[in-house]
Amino acid sequence: MKVIKADVLGFCFGVRRAVAMIETELEKNGPLCTLGAIVHNTHVVESLTEKGGRLIHDLNEVRPNEAVAITAHGAGDEVYSAIRDRGLRIVDTTCPIVRRAQQTAEKLVKEGYFVIVYGEAEHPEVKGILSWTAGKGVATQTPEVEIPEGTTGIAVIAQTTKNPQQFAQFAEMATREFAGKVTEIRIVNTTCPETGRRYQAGSELAKRVDVILVVGSRSSANTRKLAETCSATGVPTYHIESASEIKEEWFDGCDVCGVTAGASTPDEVIENVVNRLNSERGE
Ligand code: SF4
Repeated sequence: MKVIKADVLGFCFGVRRAVAMIETELEKNGPLCTLGAIVHNTHVVESLTEKGGRLIHDLNEVRPNEAVAITAHGAGDEVYSAIRDRGLRIVDTTCPIVRRAQQTAEKLVKEGYFVIVYGEAEHPEVKGILSWTAGKGVATQTPEVEIPEGTTGIAVIAQTTKNPQQFAQFAEMATREFAGKVTEIRIVNTTCPETGRRYQAGSELAKRVDVILVVGSRSSANTRKLAETCSATGVPTYHIESASEIKEEWFDGCDVCGVTAGASTPDEVIENVVNRLNSERGE
């Protein structure tokens, strides 16, 4: 069986940057904890833990000598204030594209819009973006959403990992839903081109293979969406976290297997998958 990797896969620049910032910080300045997983990938979290980073979920868990890292997903204004109030040092690894989405939300609210974020309300990135709307926003996956009485203008933005085509469809549905209810509707595309490139490369790969493996944590929103995108092409698609999950029966009668990976999947995890496929099923 031939194994082909997608043209674009694995770590995006935002994740590479966040991991490098933490590694440098641990090496040069010592104790550090991250408020939430630095990215949604267990291998990355474990590797940083081995280097001395500590994962916490609440600021009450911070030790007095530690710096606090904000993850690539970003955080709300209140989190920055709470860290500063405790006199702790912040290592801000927020991805610049997530930061742009936060700034966009903040600016739109200042311009008088109520902001609708197309995204998963419980995802840390979405919670962070929403906090920059100071209560004048909502996160939703469907356009039928309550807006405060007296709202004259809405703005529609997206969780950065949303597929741009799906965002366009959502924006169209939201426009239909709110036409006649408000006088102004603004659409700002805050999706990340990095994830879009992975979805595109995954769809193209699907045309050339009999089966696709999508590598990455199940908690990673962009990896899940990448798997959905590949699966939507009709090619049998399996989302795995590591090479150990590969099952022989997936490849019966397959000549070509495609491999792709989410933006938070490290190179070595992808290589382990490719090596396993080549050593056990390679031509
Ligand atoms: S996927 Fe995009 S938004 Fe998310 S960390 Fe990577 S570059 Fe940043």
